[in-house]
Amino acid sequence: MRVRVPFGRRRLIGVVMEVADSSELAPERLRPVLEVLDPAPLLDPGALELIRWAADYYHHPIGQVLASALPKALRLGAGSIATEEYWTVTEAGAAALAAGELRRAPRQRALLELLLSLGGAATAPALEAHAPGWREGARALAARGLAARSARALAAASEPERARPAGPALLPEQRAAVEQVARAAGTFAAFLLEGITGSGKTEVYLELTAQTLALGRGVLVLVPEIGLTPQLVGRFRERFAAPLAVVHSALTDQERLGAWRAAWSGSARIVLGTRSAVFAPLRDLGLIVVDEEHDASFKQHEGALRYSARDLALVRAQRAHVPVLLGSATPSLETLHNVAAGRYARLRLSRRPGESQPPLLKLIDLRVSALEAGISTPAALAMERHLAADGQVLVFLNRRGYAPTLLCTACGWIAPCRECDARLTVHLAAQRLRCHHCGADAPLPARCPQCGFTVKAVGQGTERIESALATRFPGVPIVRLDRDVVRKRGDLEQVVRRMRSGEARILVGTQMVTKGHDFPNVTLVLVLNADQGLFSPDFRAPERLAQTIVQVAGRAGRGARAGEVLIQTEFPQHPLLVSLLAQGYDGFAQAALAERREAQWPPFSRLAAVRASAVTREAALGFLSEARAAAHAPPRGVRLLGPVPAAMAKRAGRYHAQLLLEGRERRPLHQFLDDWLPGVEALKSAQRVRWALDVDPLELF
Ligand code: ADP
Ligand code: ZN
Ligand code: ZN
Repeated sequence: MRVRVPFGRRRLIGVVMEVADSSELAPERLRPVLEVLDPAPLLDPGALELIRWAADYYHHPIGQVLASALPKALRLGAGSIATEEYWTVTEAGAAALAAGELRRAPRQRALLELLLSLGGAATAPALEAHAPGWREGARALAARGLAARSARALAAASEPERARPAGPALLPEQRAAVEQVARAAGTFAAFLLEGITGSGKTEVYLELTAQTLALGRGVLVLVPEIGLTPQLVGRFRERFAAPLAVVHSALTDQERLGAWRAAWSGSARIVLGTRSAVFAPLRDLGLIVVDEEHDASFKQHEGALRYSARDLALVRAQRAHVPVLLGSATPSLETLHNVAAGRYARLRLSRRPGESQPPLLKLIDLRVSALEAGISTPAALAMERHLAADGQVLVFLNRRGYAPTLLCTACGWIAPCRECDARLTVHLAAQRLRCHHCGADAPLPARCPQCGFTVKAVGQGTERIESALATRFPGVPIVRLDRDVVRKRGDLEQVVRRMRSGEARILVGTQMVTKGHDFPNVTLVLVLNADQGLFSPDFRAPERLAQTIVQVAGRAGRGARAGEVLIQTEFPQHPLLVSLLAQGYDGFAQAALAERREAQWPPFSRLAAVRASAVTREAALGFLSEARAAAHAPPRGVRLLGPVPAAMAKRAGRYHAQLLLEGRERRPLHQFLDDWLPGVEALKSAQRVRWALDVDPLELF
């Protein structure tokens, strides 16, 4: 429970973790708690244990773990978790409206009318549902005494009786998956649900959710990014009468608090959210689902507490004695390793409902086919063929903007970012040069600032591909999907709608197109550049590449027609591509796991990284060298590697470096961290840098 306590001369919010009978301090040195903010514990015992576990495993102070887990409003002392925000029309408000005042403030008047139509009072979520963006008007009304804000106890859980559409009859594989997981109800068990996009995983989640709710228990569903999976939220809303709490990073503090309160009180029986939702309080948790479990966005890789929500979901399920279901078309190698070790049970969905063939993958050898504006002749011919046959085409390129480089052909000048070791990307339509690492933004020069000669955009980005295709296929409507196009709510939906309605025939996009969307009439997928992931120093790059290819390929042929997938590469003999094409993701994963075992990379070893950044290179590396020196004799099986500058050492004006720790086993590595970290914290040089420990880092830079 939260308490307000005196702290020096200040008053702070604290969280009571335990109550002790006695204290080491003399009673007269203890000060009384000023106020208890919550009437009951904020976290259920399972969630509290999860917090303790995370503090221990990520070697992070428990107070800061709690701070990362709780919504900001609770941290700052917002009213009790057991109440909800409630707005009422005051007498003065009703009188003002009746007297026809407020003519000059139509939004305030509309809000008062809405409140009256809702019976003179409404909760914040109700107002949000009827009048998005209502809060400003409400504040203005409150300031004039025309409406008032208060808190009231949350309504008890109620399940309105509404007719809901039933799901489709499950296919045998889906039914088998549901039965296996359902049989584990009330105990911990981990499952991998493996099936390509469209194979019916979501239907399995929905059916299991229905069964769990029927047992009177709640369901936690974790997804990578809400913005990219609106269809999933929609399907849960449509299927269940039980209110849903949706938790993601774009919520305002008040919305997040509202979602927490709904989950805490049990008025929402389903919590659907991105990684921080793994800490959400749920009444009688009965099932955890992690959709797209391989997705890197489950890893919090910035800030102080760097955690994997996927891994925490497993711990939470274990502590709460409930089953956890990990779903993916392209499971992470860690998860496949756990399956092989017998820790997770594997459930497979091998085909798409109502469809015969999976898409056919082919390589286009760029050493023998000419490229024109990034597109090879065989690829262009295939596009023509599919467009003529009334199909839609998806063109994937993992680089937004017009071109990644601006070059002077006379003196060789390349537009650099001043704050990063990176080039500026050309954004032609906007006439800007932008850094994709720090956000730097400058006008696009017409001439070389060094010698005055004309400059040239080199390489391909989605913006350039879009315009090249417009020239090549005149009259064929094209849409683009990347972070430059999707800037506000509704933008993504608009692109998706234009593709689904058939109004657009070609979709050009980045990673964003790989997530969650169903384009049933796409018959051809073109991967323009597969080679970025093949020769990276990061041992996880091939895994990410294979996942991306399979996920993009999954967008093809989801309707009745079989799809075709063409991958442009300069390395058609590369063993990774060969195994992926010949044996699919499974074959690739086996080969990649064998390589990892050979090289002793995770999951065959454990990693942790100490990351530091500072305004000078010397400060960042100096701190890490001292940290390394503080590890006098690391135990057997624990190695320290580095320190080394990051691959992109300078980012946003700071120099980044890391010290890597590798352990053959988890226990000695963590024991070593426990012994070593206090000394690192005590270093004087630690004060001069920003640093953080990253346990199980996903990206090695
Ligand atoms: P995934 O989550 O694996 O991408 P979905 O559950 O979204 O797959 O299923 C893909 C499509 O097939 C959806 O439109 C869904 O409604 C439909 N579908 C799934 N299972 C069945 C089934 N048993 N019978 C008929 N249609 C189904
Ligand atoms: Zn020049
Ligand atoms: Zn930059």
